[in-house]
Amino acid sequence: MTIDPRKPYDPDNIFAKILRGEIPNNTVYEDEHVLAFHDIAPQAPVHVLVIPKGAYVSWDDFTANASDAEIGGFIRAVGHVAREMGLVEPGYRLLANIGHDGGQEVPHLHVHLFGGKPLGRMIAG
Ligand code: AMP
Repeated sequence: MTIDPRKPYDPDNIFAKILRGEIPNNTVYEDEHVLAFHDIAPQAPVHVLVIPKGAYVSWDDFTANASDAEIGGFIRAVGHVAREMGLVEPGYRLLANIGHDGGQEVPHLHVHLFGGKPLGRMIAG
């Protein structure tokens, strides 16, 4: 089921539970603004999710309402994780699904970071 990015934040979404430590995750990186962890169902040899620690439903909510420090911290962290994972030289892909047409399933902003093999053309199906 996909989500409506305009709905209020649901504090019981799965990534909120991960941030509260209520369910486990395989952490790649953490700082004051973000948590990065391996996707539970990887779609590439490297598939990491980067999420802000603040309660933002989607990229739309985040870019409209987050502070400059949160936005800067998040963007820098995505680049940092990719560098730390050795993905800059071979290359990688970032993806953020937003709302129904974007296919977003978890209503807490996340950027997918894919790598580890040539990823082909952008959109299938
Ligand atoms: P999206 O369709 O963009 O909302 O992507 C949600 C992603 O979250 C999917 O790639 C799922 O495999 C991933 N996911 C769901 N639950 C977990 C979890 N507990 N730990 C790590 N990744 C998860």
